[in-house]
Amino acid sequence: MRKNSVPETQEVVLIGAGIMSATLAVLLKKLYPTLAITVYEKLDVISGESSNAMNNAGTGHAGFCELNYTPQNEDGSIDIKKAIDVASSFELSREFWSYLIKNNLIDNAEDFISATPHLSFVWGKDDVNFLRTRWETITTHPLFKDMEYSEDPEQIAKWIPLVMKDRKPGEPVAATRMESGTDVNYGELTRKILLNLMFNNDIELHIAHEIKDLAKQTDGSWELKVKNLTTKKKFTKKANFVFIGAGGKAITLLEKSNIKEAKGYGGFPVSGEWLVCNNPEVVEQHQAKVYGKAKIGAPPMSVPHLDTRRINGKTTLLFGPFAGFSTKFLKNGSYWDFMGSMRKDNIIPMISAGAHNVPLTKYLIDQVRQSKEDKIATLRDYFPDAKAEDWDEELAGQRVQVIQKDGKGGALKFGTEIVCAQDGSIAGLLGASPGASTAVSIMIGLIQRCFPEQFDSEWKTKIQDMIPSYGRTDLDEAHYLNSRQNTAKILSLIPKTLNTQHKEVASSYVS
Ligand SMILES: Cc1cc2nc3c(=O)[nH]c(=O)nc-3n(C[C@H](O)[C@H](O)[C@H](O)COP(=O)(O)OP(=O)(O)OC[C@H]3O[C@@H](n4cnc5c(N)ncnc54)[C@H](O)[C@@H]3O)c2cc1C
Repeated sequence: MRKNSVPETQEVVLIGAGIMSATLAVLLKKLYPTLAITVYEKLDVISGESSNAMNNAGTGHAGFCELNYTPQNEDGSIDIKKAIDVASSFELSREFWSYLIKNNLIDNAEDFISATPHLSFVWGKDDVNFLRTRWETITTHPLFKDMEYSEDPEQIAKWIPLVMKDRKPGEPVAATRMESGTDVNYGELTRKILLNLMFNNDIELHIAHEIKDLAKQTDGSWELKVKNLTTKKKFTKKANFVFIGAGGKAITLLEKSNIKEAKGYGGFPVSGEWLVCNNPEVVEQHQAKVYGKAKIGAPPMSVPHLDTRRINGKTTLLFGPFAGFSTKFLKNGSYWDFMGSMRKDNIIPMISAGAHNVPLTKYLIDQVRQSKEDKIATLRDYFPDAKAEDWDEELAGQRVQVIQKDGKGGALKFGTEIVCAQDGSIAGLLGASPGASTAVSIMIGLIQRCFPEQFDSEWKTKIQDMIPSYGRTDLDEAHYLNSRQNTAKILSLIPKTLNTQHKEVASSYVS
């Protein structure tokens, strides 16, 4: 089959107004300005699902603090490959966002990104040994060169006073710290990108419009059945290229597309819940994202973390996410989503993935049964002095993990997966992790697969003009330092030093 070629691909439909569609829209518009791009979103807001600030953790995932990206091998050594991949992808995101700012394609970086140190914190001899080996290994790579490490409680208390205050005396502890970590409001970034494109007449954006169905036409194009949820009127829309950026519901629309590449995929929904601090005095005493080690059986995305968030000009403190099981594929979805996604071609992979993930199932059941007191008890592992009345429970976003057919029937995957028709006329994104942080490299990968000829002949160079690190394998410490300093300047990422109260708490911690 012939792949997409530019002259034929004039009508593009992007399903869903989340960070993925927004990133793809602006990239495509830069690469091929005359494309007619239409975005349909079923909610009456932009980024109302996973990309919304309170539905995700807002971590600019760069492999700095997420211990699940650096598993320990049987011989005790640490595998840092995944952390390097994620860190490299996040550098591309930062470079692309600074390109958007520099070129007035979005404004006010401080609305969506802020400097927030990333720390890993562990306790107990084994985990301290793990973290030390991880730090010794990972700092050999230029992307992680400036990572700090300490086993000294006084030093750690200067970094994260709330975590150290009233901690058990004599307990071995260790922490790593990357000052260049970030907190990102992906919802705000999505809104900025899409609204700017819409105001410049670069895209058509229709909220409260749901894609009900889609079918390939004999001329190779797609016909989408659209419902205007305000007027209840239905109509059809033709497109030469379709991106299914429907978050958790992408699996359902991929199934409806009937492309053979989507056969055998299933989705496993995992819900999330936060503890949100309602006491401003406590919020003020913590300025970092602190990730710990996941419990056995825990899915990687539910590694607990104590996170400073900056949302709509307000600083908030979150702990979680606690995972759970809900049969919905979207927070605003239907309880029938999971059952409705079962098909002849994916039922065996889905059963098989369940059978091979008994510890995960057990973990999720335990999580669902947790009371607020149980959650506060988990929080106290990170913040021993936490008081239940200072924390409220709030629902986070829904994630749908990919189930993929394999030699043993089926397996559960924790990454993201682009499913793309062989002719490049339609693609969808499944999975959620590391997610929004790596949206730029995921969407460039999608463009490369769906438009290979244009990519090789022209677009790769254009991408390199926007994102200087893209496609380079010769990057050294000096390059990363320079790139981080430049993007930090453009994105207003000025590291915050400890405030006075922060310092007082640090000095009053009792070991
Ligand atoms: C609890 C949690 C924590 C997370 N933490 C992080 C983090 O710290 N860092 C990070 O980088 N990533 C994180 N992620 C992942 C990240 O949020 C997602 O990867 C990302 O937001 C996905 O973006 P998206 O555009 O694919 O999907 P979404 O933002 O979910 O957007 C999909 C959109 O499609 C719409 N839609 C669905 N069906 C239709 C239809 N039929 N017609 C029209 N519209 C439709 C939906 O309403 C929705 O608005 C987290 C996710 C969760 C749930």
